[in-house]
Parts: sequence; C-alpha cells; structure tokens
Amino acid sequence: MELYGITQELVQSLEALFERAASVTVAAHSHPDGDALGSVSGLVSYLRERRGKDAVAVLPDSPASTVSFIVPNSVPLLCFDTDPEACLERIAESDLVVLLDANGFSRTEGLQEAFEASPVPKVLIDHHVGPDRNRFQVVFSTEDVSSASELLYYILLRLKGIDGDAHNLPIDAANALLTGMTTDTNNFANSVYPATFEMASQLLDAGVERDEILSRLYNNYRENRVRVMGYLQSEAMRITPEGLAYIIATRDILDRFGVNEGETEGLVNIPLSIDRVRMSILLKQDKGHFRVSIRSKKKTSAREAAEKYFNGGGHENASGGKLWYPGDIDTPEDAAAYLEKVSREFLK
Ligand code: 5GP
Ligand code: MN
Repeated sequence: MELYGITQELVQSLEALFERAASVTVAAHSHPDGDALGSVSGLVSYLRERRGKDAVAVLPDSPASTVSFIVPNSVPLLCFDTDPEACLERIAESDLVVLLDANGFSRTEGLQEAFEASPVPKVLIDHHVGPDRNRFQVVFSTEDVSSASELLYYILLRLKGIDGDAHNLPIDAANALLTGMTTDTNNFANSVYPATFEMASQLLDAGVERDEILSRLYNNYRENRVRVMGYLQSEAMRITPEGLAYIIATRDILDRFGVNEGETEGLVNIPLSIDRVRMSILLKQDKGHFRVSIRSKKKTSAREAAEKYFNGGGHENASGGKLWYPGDIDTPEDAAAYLEKVSREFLK
C-alpha cells in the first residue's frame, strides 16, 4: 500500500495539471485554522519558488491574528471578507484551482459559487470524510492522516523540484507545513501516525524553526484569552448526567472579555480531561447562529453528533457545525435546553 493513498497515477495526474497551469488559486475552508493556513501556504510557496507559477492563496475569511503568522510574506493572500472583488476576479483568471483541508467547495462559504462556476480543472487534497469527488479531476483524500499539511507534505516529496528530500522545500513551505500539522494534532496529542513523526523529523533536519513555531502558537496570546478561558470553565461549563460537557460563550461574555477571533482555540478540548466526560461541546455566539465545536473520547462520535444536530461534520473525534436561530432553536436562550436534549438522546 502506498502511504496515505498517494499513488504514482495520482502524482502523475497532479504533475500534468501543474505543468500545464500558469496561474493557480489555492483555497481552504472558512475561518481557516492552522492546518488550512499551513497547507495553503506550503503549496503556494512550493508552486511559486520551485515551479515559477503565479500561485495565490484565496480564503473565505481573513486569518485570525493568533494564526496569521503562518502565512509568510512570500505568499500572496486574498480574503473574501475584506476583498471580495479581487477574490472573484482571481478565481475567474486562474487556470487551476486546488482546495485544501476541506471536503468540498461548500466549506468555502462565500466563494462556493465562484469555484463551482469555474470551468478549470480542480484538485482536492484533504483529510475529512465524504470528499465531494465529482467536482475534482484529481483527489487525494484519506481520513487516516494527521492533517492536510502532512498529506500535502508527502505529495510534495514526490513532485518535481523536491525529489524526495525535504531540504529542497522552500523554508517558508517547510515552516508552514510543520505548523499546520502541529495545530491539527494539538502538538502531537491526537491523530499522530508513524509517518507524522517522520515528517517532523525530516523537516527539523531541513531547518524548520520548531521552537519559534511553538512559541508563536502557544506563548503569544493576549491576557484576555487566559482570563476568558478561566471564566468559561469555572462559570459557564455544565456537565450532564450522561457525560456531555458544554460551554455556551454568549455574545455578552465574549464582548465583556473583548475576545477576538481565534482566542478560544483549544477550550473545547479541556472538559475532555474530566473522567466522566465523553463529549465536549463549545457554542460561540455569532450573528443568527452559534458556531459549534465538538470533541469526543473514543467510542463516541463527534462527527455523528455534528451531522445529526449541528448542520456540520468533520472527524470522528473532532467536528463542528452551526446551530441556527431562529431555525434549529427559536432564540439564543434556548441553546442550553437543546444541548441537554442532545445529551439525553445521543449519549443515552
Ligand atoms: P473546530 O472545532 O476546530 O472549529 O473544528 C473541528 C473540525 O470540525 C474541523 O477540522 C472540521 O473538520 C470540522 N468542522 C468545523 N466546522 C464545520 C462546519 O461548519 N461544517 C463541517 N462540515 N465541518 C466543520
Ligand atoms: Mn485539517
């Protein structure tokens, strides 16, 4: 078996598309996390530095300030929230589109229509269930890998200009890929495979600055983050008899602490450290909906819960979605009752 399903045929098809393309648009999911930004940056950097392509990153939302460092200055980035016209123009002008860390264009929100209308070849490189294969000419997809960044790393090793040696990656790409893998594994805590350590080892040898990356990721927050995380854990967390821990971060709380995008990253994992908790759900209030993050222990499917109750999906033990009001619930105040019902039904 080829590592992560990266067959010679797929590599050759990708090579042929890269060879023919002049201008490549590289995209990822909305509210891009470290893996989305790391994989997109890694590919854009490779295509520009090693292939001389006009490659540009196009994202549905601007990166949160906590992870924006992942996109190096050498990677041109357009964001739909701040510059919609430039994004649409760019997509219309591209002759190849690559989507990373998302199973289809539905996860690119405001950009979905433009991508689906574009007649050019498309490539998918992803690690979520249910890839939307029909929209793509070439699909690299497996759930059994740490991250899109790792899957991309092993694809890049097979491509022209890298030739199996991580030392041949542009250093910006190497740093971005290690960062993406680090955030999606929660710094080597979950979804780690033998090849994941090998990737880290090879990238360290190639000169990535892991200490600097860890310090930027985990020791560079504003004070607000630590305070609001403490408050939400001590005052807002509830645990049901069935073992669901949930936290509802209302607009009121988020505003009171001046919380910015990305500043509650990691909070949803914390309740899982309690012995009797089987699943943890974080709701963050947004306009007309709550953004939902779900984590579960083995034998409980966060993905199923996201699909069934929160209009979403994701991985077996880490998933997400949305809870609409009015819609799924009448008003934001009904969220707690909804979660209690999810607990009784889903964890019975
Ligand atoms: P997070 O809780 O870190 O925002 O998201 C965890 C995982 O859940 C993501 O990696 C992604 O796989 C999935 N996810 C998050 N939000 C959504 C969503 O709105 N729709 C779907 N289908 N998956 C999501
Ligand atoms: Mn990912």
